[in-house]
Amino acid sequence: GNTILSGYATTIFTVMSALANEHDAINLGQGYPDEDGPRDIRRRAADAVFEGPNQYPPMMGTPQLRRAVAAHNARFYGLDIDPDTEVIVTSGATEALCDSLLGLIEPGDEVVLIEPLYDSYAPIVRLAGGVAKTVRMEPPRWTLPREALAAAFSDKTKLIVLNSPHNPSGKVFDRDELSFIAMLLKKHDAYAVCDEVYEHLVFDGLAHIPLMCLEDMRDRCVRIGSAGKTFSLTGWKVGYITASPELIAPIAKAHQFVTFTTAPHLQSAVAYGLAKEAAYFSALAQTMQDKRDRLTQGLRAAGFEVMAAHGSYFITADIRSVGHVGGDVDFCRHITIEAGVTAVPVSAFYEGGGADHFVRFCFCKNDATLDEACRRLQKHF
Ligand code: PMP
Ligand code: GLN
Repeated sequence: GNTILSGYATTIFTVMSALANEHDAINLGQGYPDEDGPRDIRRRAADAVFEGPNQYPPMMGTPQLRRAVAAHNARFYGLDIDPDTEVIVTSGATEALCDSLLGLIEPGDEVVLIEPLYDSYAPIVRLAGGVAKTVRMEPPRWTLPREALAAAFSDKTKLIVLNSPHNPSGKVFDRDELSFIAMLLKKHDAYAVCDEVYEHLVFDGLAHIPLMCLEDMRDRCVRIGSAGKTFSLTGWKVGYITASPELIAPIAKAHQFVTFTTAPHLQSAVAYGLAKEAAYFSALAQTMQDKRDRLTQGLRAAGFEVMAAHGSYFITADIRSVGHVGGDVDFCRHITIEAGVTAVPVSAFYEGGGADHFVRFCFCKNDATLDEACRRLQKHF
């Protein structure tokens, strides 16, 4: 008979969450808040289930949510977006990434990826027939290697995938770095798929800058957001894509065959959420910044060298600082089983082995949970 052997590996998040469950460890691996986002947003979704409609929404997303996405882009970034031709609603940023890569990449196109990278990018690039050209940011500051980046571009480059704020490092790309990338896109007539799911999780008074806002970048960028991160409702899987009509058209072609549409009551509740007052967004960032500080201090007290991180749900730590001599995968197994705390190995964010002495800890958890995790690690090391 036929043998069915998937070429896909099991994601590190599934692997580490299963190990955490098995050993009853505090799970600071997979990135999700342990407290659900705003009640009023959830109430809107619940009401919408009963009020209906509950049939297929339009393929591009409900007009109400598309208008809300356009208004959000105008409010936070001064972008002028046409809700009818420049927005697609997707079932999570994961689908948005998949649609964008499947829609834009032709077999043989080169795609520039920056490591460490979110684990869904490379498999979808390959599925689309793209050829990945990876460059590595350099720890401990996760510096963008400009020479290597410039060398990774060629006349075959179709696009770069750019993730800022960055998972797993927590790096927030600054205007200077973005300008450098913009220069390369112009030089090589290439595009950018911008994974900006953590756009509202930026700390220390820094601002999130969409690459799309830089000069001449409006029509070269596909901007992707996620309601899951913006409203601490990661299970909802509602994402949104903003791009010029020329880029939206091929991406919509992929979207129609990937999911076609997204649950209507969630779209309606997210539209309501995107219009929330400024205080909601600033409080979210402040709360997460406090949690970052709490976990950073606790890990430092346990002996870890913790890298600077200005955004996302994550911080990275150097495991050599607590005297570990093996690799990061080994370390994550070890602390799950022996200390009762789970992290994720940063080597999982590389195509074929990269830095293997960093681990990622997620800080979007209750203070008591963070404190208990730190107490366990302080006791263990
Ligand atoms: N991109 C990055 C960088 C992420 O960290 C995540 C999720 N955790 C996603 C995309 C996927 O987002 P969603 O849950 O909306 O599919
Ligand atoms: N994005 C989340 C993380 O980086 C997890 C998403 C997933 O489980 N696929 O931890």
